[in-house]
Amino acid sequence: MASFAELGVSHPVTEALGRRGITGPFPIQTMVLPDALAGHDVLAKSKTGSGKTLAFALPIVERLDPAAPAPAALVLVPTRELAVQVADEFTDVAAARGLRVAAAYGGVGLTAQAKAAARSHVLVATPGRLEDLATRRMVTLGAVTVFVLDEADRMLDMGFLPQVDRIVRRIPTERQTMLFSATLDGAVANLAAAYTRTPRRHEIEAPRETVDSAEHRFVPVASGEKVETLAGLIREAPGRTLVFVRTKRGADRLATKLGRLGVRVEAMHGDLTQAARERALQRFSSGRAEALVATDVAARGLDLEHITHVVNFDPPQDDKGYVHRVGRTARAGRSGTGVTFVEPEQQADVSRMAARLKLDEEFRREGMAVAAPRLVFTSGRGRRSGLGRRRGR
Ligand code: ADP
Ligand code: MG
Repeated sequence: MASFAELGVSHPVTEALGRRGITGPFPIQTMVLPDALAGHDVLAKSKTGSGKTLAFALPIVERLDPAAPAPAALVLVPTRELAVQVADEFTDVAAARGLRVAAAYGGVGLTAQAKAAARSHVLVATPGRLEDLATRRMVTLGAVTVFVLDEADRMLDMGFLPQVDRIVRRIPTERQTMLFSATLDGAVANLAAAYTRTPRRHEIEAPRETVDSAEHRFVPVASGEKVETLAGLIREAPGRTLVFVRTKRGADRLATKLGRLGVRVEAMHGDLTQAARERALQRFSSGRAEALVATDVAARGLDLEHITHVVNFDPPQDDKGYVHRVGRTARAGRSGTGVTFVEPEQQADVSRMAARLKLDEEFRREGMAVAAPRLVFTSGRGRRSGLGRRRGR
C-alpha cells in the first residue's frame, strides 16, 4: 500500500503524523487523498473511526497558502464535541505547514472565538455559531476556497440544513467541496448534488453488516424457467425489487419479458441516455415500477432506498460482487432479502461462494448440495469458469 509520502503528503506533515504514531494511511485516506490533493470535489463514506478527518485535513494543509486571506478553509461539523476533536486532529499537521486552526462552537463567549477565527487559515465550526459570527460580521467567509461538510448525515438528522444552506450561500461558488458521511444515500445525495461539482466518490462499505442483516435465498432453477420464477417472486412479495443481470442486452431483454408477464419494470444500463436513466429511476423510486433490472456497473452510482429484494438473476462475478449487490437491501435496520438464481451448472461455483460467505446453510436449505472447496477456478478445458460466467457459451 502506498505511503503518505507516495500519496503526495509533504515531509513536514508526515513527520508531524509520525510523532503521533501515525505511520501509514487508512484505506479511506488512500482513496481520498489523490483526488482531494488534485483539487477535485469529493464525496466519501466510511464507518466511524476509519480516519475521515485526516482524509480531508491532510489535503487542506497541503494545498493552503499561509499567505492567503483568512479563513481559507471551512469545516462544518454538527456538534461542539466534534468541532474540538476535528480541530485537535488538525492542529499539528497544520502547524507543520505554518497554518493556524480555530474552532467555533456555541456555549462559550463569542469574542475570543471570533478573534481566533478571523486570523485562522482553517476554521472548524458548528453551523449555529458560525452563522451567528457571520451575521454579526465578526467573521467573513468570502475568502473560503475549501469547504468541508463533515458528518453530513448527522447534520441533516439534527435539522441543520437551513443553517448550512445559508452558510454555503456566504462562501464563494468557486471552491473545492468535500462531503463526509456515514451514508451518501437519500437526503445526503441531494445535499451532495447541490453543493458539489462532478465529485469523485469514495465509499467503503461495511459489507458484513449489511449482508448479516439480510435474509438469503438460493433458488435452483432451470434456465428456461428463470423469467417466470422471477415474475412469480415479484408478484408474491410486493415491494421494491432490484434485479441484477450480467449484460446490458440481458437487462433490456429481461425487462421486456417481465413486462409481457405483467410486471411493472424498468431497465437501467450504461447505454441509456441520461434522460432515460432519470425516467427509469424516477419510476422506480416513486413505486410506479416495482422492479429495476440493472447491470453491476449501472447500479454502482445509484442511490436506491428501501430495496426489499435483491435478485441475482445472473450470479455475481465474485464474493465481493454478491456483497455489493445484496448489500443494497436490509439497510438502516430494515429487513430485506437477497435471492440468487442457481442453474444446475452454476451450482458448484455458487455453493463455494455461499460457503466462503458463510451462507452454506442458506444454500443447503433449498435442497442443493454444497460442493467441496476448490482452490483453483479452472474447468477441465483450462478456461476460467468463475461465478457469473455460463459454461459452454
Ligand atoms: P472518522 O471521522 O472516520 O470517524 P477519525 O478521523 O475521527 O475517524 O479517526 C479515528 C481515529 O483514528 C483518530 O483517533 C485518528 O487520530 C486515528 N487515525 C486516523 N488516521 C490514522 C492512521 N492513518 N493511522 C493511525 N491512526 C489514525
Ligand atoms: Mg469524523
